[in-house]
Amino acid sequence: MVTDGVGLPAETGQWPGNDLGRAVVPGDRLAERVRELGAEITRDYRGRPPLLVGVLKGAMVFMADLSRAIELPVEMDFMAVASYGAATKSSGVVRIVKDLDMDLSGRHVLVVEDIVDSGLTLSYLRRNLAARHPATLEVCALLVKEGLQRTSLDLRYVGFSIPPRFVVGYGLDVAERYRNLPEIVEYSGPQDPQ
Ligand code: 5GP
Repeated sequence: MVTDGVGLPAETGQWPGNDLGRAVVPGDRLAERVRELGAEITRDYRGRPPLLVGVLKGAMVFMADLSRAIELPVEMDFMAVASYGAATKSSGVVRIVKDLDMDLSGRHVLVVEDIVDSGLTLSYLRRNLAARHPATLEVCALLVKEGLQRTSLDLRYVGFSIPPRFVVGYGLDVAERYRNLPEIVEYSGPQDPQ
């Protein structure tokens, strides 16, 4: 079958293929890894069900799949953050756009993140959430860009290490597009399209 580079039939014309490169993580590998992470979390959190904290909007697709791979009665909450500075480079100065609804004190909090690049956003989030006195605070990141000091970021669960390129799909966007691509794909177009 002819595809447009993302494993989808080109003839659908659904995805303007020019800006989309190769699939960095195909859909079947995503599904398999999410199942593995779900099994690991199920084992680690037995007897102390986690409160999943999703970071909007990027983590929503991952969180929806991950939560269904966890065989425990999880609870979910969401927060949205915005990074000051250019749209595609984190400045490390983060603003909470939507805060959590739930109280974290005494809870086993598992932050679900889409992608960690410089790690600045996550460092801010961790400090902010730790100040709310959870019983435990861990992070599950679907993607980590290679070259990062993973240990210094203390990521408990990681889906994939990927090359330090800009990617879209499976929740990740560029200017709100491509979130519903079923795989992680390299993006080579302008990163701040109007
Ligand atoms: P960090 O603070 O770790 O440098 O950046 C984290 C945030 O930047 C992510 O939550 C995501 O919103 C955005 N980001 C970093 N790398 C990428 C990427 O390759 N693609 C997309 N779509 N967003 C990214």
